Formats: sequence, C-alpha cells, structure tokens
Amino acid sequence: MPTTTRIFNFAAGPAVLPLPVLEEAQRDLVSLPGVGMSVMEISHRSKTFDAIIQGAEADFRELAGVPDGYHVLFLQGGASTQFAMVPMNLLAPGATADYIVTGSWSKKAVKEAKKVGTVNIAATTEAEKFARIPRQDELSLTPGAAYVHMTSNNTIYGTAWKAEPQVGGVPLVCDASSDIFSRPIDVKKHALVYAGAQKNLGPSGVTVVVIRDDVAKRGSESLPTMLNYATHVAEKSLYNTPPVFGIYILGLVLKWLKANGGLTAMAKVNERKAAKVYAEIDRSGFYRGHAQKDSRSLMNITFRLPSEELEAQFVKGSTAAGFSGLKGHRSVGGLRASIYNAFPEEGIDALVSFMRDFEKKNG
Ligand SMILES: *Cc1c(COP(=O)(O)O)cnc(C)c1O
Repeated sequence: MPTTTRIFNFAAGPAVLPLPVLEEAQRDLVSLPGVGMSVMEISHRSKTFDAIIQGAEADFRELAGVPDGYHVLFLQGGASTQFAMVPMNLLAPGATADYIVTGSWSKKAVKEAKKVGTVNIAATTEAEKFARIPRQDELSLTPGAAYVHMTSNNTIYGTAWKAEPQVGGVPLVCDASSDIFSRPIDVKKHALVYAGAQKNLGPSGVTVVVIRDDVAKRGSESLPTMLNYATHVAEKSLYNTPPVFGIYILGLVLKWLKANGGLTAMAKVNERKAAKVYAEIDRSGFYRGHAQKDSRSLMNITFRLPSEELEAQFVKGSTAAGFSGLKGHRSVGGLRASIYNAFPEEGIDALVSFMRDFEKKNG
C-alpha cells in the first residue's frame, strides 16, 4: 500500500507514529545498514545495539534536559507494571503514599499501591466525572509522605495538569504515558516519571522510567530482581533481554523530535492543533467538551454531541471520511480525538471541516 493511502488515526494508543520513522524502519528492517541483519535478529549485547540504546538514552536526556543524578531506563510491562513497581520500591512499611486521582489510570495505580501499603487519596475529581484537575488548595497531602503520585494527562477523560502540584520536599511520581514529550518537562520537579511508549514515544512493549538516584536505591533486597529499580540502574536496562525493536523505534522517534525542533517546538504545534479542535467544539454549542476549559488536554480531546444516536452517526460518518479511532472510551461516551505529536495537522483541519459539515447536516 503506498504511504499516501494512510488514513487519519485518532487512536488513543497504540497510536500514530511519525511517517519518516516508519519509512526508515521499513527501509532498514531486513538489513540494518552495515550490519546485514535485522535489528530484531541481533544480540542485545552487540556493539550495534549498544549504539542504539545509548543513542536513545542520550537523545532522551538531551530532549528532556534530564539532569545528572537521574537515570533513564527502558523497561517492559507497560505503565501498568509501574503502578506496582512504584509502591514496591518507594513505599516502605509504615509509610503513606499520596495519590491524586484524576481518572481511570490513577485509580488503577491506587489499586496496586494498596496491595503494598497505606494510600491516602490526596484528592479526587471522580464526583465530577473527572472533568477537571484538582486545585492546589484541594490537595490534602500527608506530611512526610513516601511520595505523591499524579497522572499528568488523563487519556480517557481528556484532562491535563497545566503545572505540577506543589508537594514540598516529598518525591513527586508522575505517570506521563499520554503526554510525555508533548511539551517541555521539568525533570527536577519529579523523583520519578514513567510512560508506556505507545502513545507519544514509540510502539508498545517499551516503558520509559526516569528516576532520581536516591529513589532508585529505595527498594528492599527482598524484591524480585526484575521489579527492583536498582537492578535496571546497575545493568543500564540490560539485566535481561530488553525490548530491542521497541527501543530501536523509540530511538528513531527521538531523532525525529530533535529534527523537528525538540519539545518547545512540539508544544507550539500541539497547542495550535488542539486549539483548532477546541474552537470548533466551543463555536456553536452543538458539540460539548467533556473537560472543563482550564483542565483541557492537548493530546486527547473528549466531546459529546446532542444525542447518542448522533454520536454513533458521527463515528460512522467519520470512518467513511477516512478517520479512525474517534469513538470515545466507554466510561465517558461520545467522541475522543487523540492527537499526539505524530498526528499531522492536515488531519486536524480535516476533522474540523468534517465537524462543521456534520453540524450543518444534523444541527
Ligand atoms: C495507556 C495508559 C496507561 C497504561 O499503559 P500500559 O502501557 O498499557 O500499561 C497508564 N497510564 C496512562 C495515563 C495511560 O494513558
């Protein structure tokens, strides 16, 4: 299939990847230049893969401005494994972990932490269907907590934090799976940031963890080896066979980000892309955004139509128009447009004009 027949993919994850990345991977899939083997066929201990994983780490550090004293790890098991690894390593017996609950993924993180120790729900906006991020004055933080856990972007509800919460000296842990590298990130404000790659960084199968050195050492010796951050720090993500192909693609995505101006440039484009869709949602009242305006995500835009029939019709019509993945998550209903870094701006313009036409015909 020629690449020109690619459709506009609004999926929440796994999600659209940059076309130049896919094309490079396709070109080199059977034989890496100068290697004569596929990246999937080489040893993870080879010089070739060393260059790939070290290059990915260096580019990640450069893009995010990761300071000294932080490690960048490439793990497996998805963000969902981090829901467990974070408390297993950071939540000592007798201590309390604060969780700010802003959606379904935060709730899943809480569920895992409760298996390990004491959890305080520092705030939740569940009573408002997670339509907003809590204000600073709504947080009831535990003095001396083991850590505070937050979800920077709520993929299902379409909300995002505009700035990190103030947590004093308590380590801040952030699930950034659906907005990592959509804008600059101040790593220093965090003790640990984790993200499944499949929304904004690459394919599924690789999970990035950025962890401060003191926090990486907190795990007890009795933890299973693979679930102790210290193992992966000591072995530079090569304790066992890492997700070689995922790291390779992630590395290509990072190169693409650098070639496109890095995170500041990315944020500018993302703001412009999201603003176009939100302007259309706000224009006439036919569409209704789920998220409150001050909590709107730039990555996942959730909206409703006047009736469920119209929503179903919208999905059907959008498929016929060459769009995929616009049906909202079942817990919110309606529509969701996921427009990650790699989602092309032409697709935004096409969606906006589809929304206009649909309203004209059905409004
Ligand atoms: C998708 C997602 C997850 C789950 O990621 P897995 O890699 O599938 O475990 C967790 N948190 C957020 C915010 C997500 O968007």
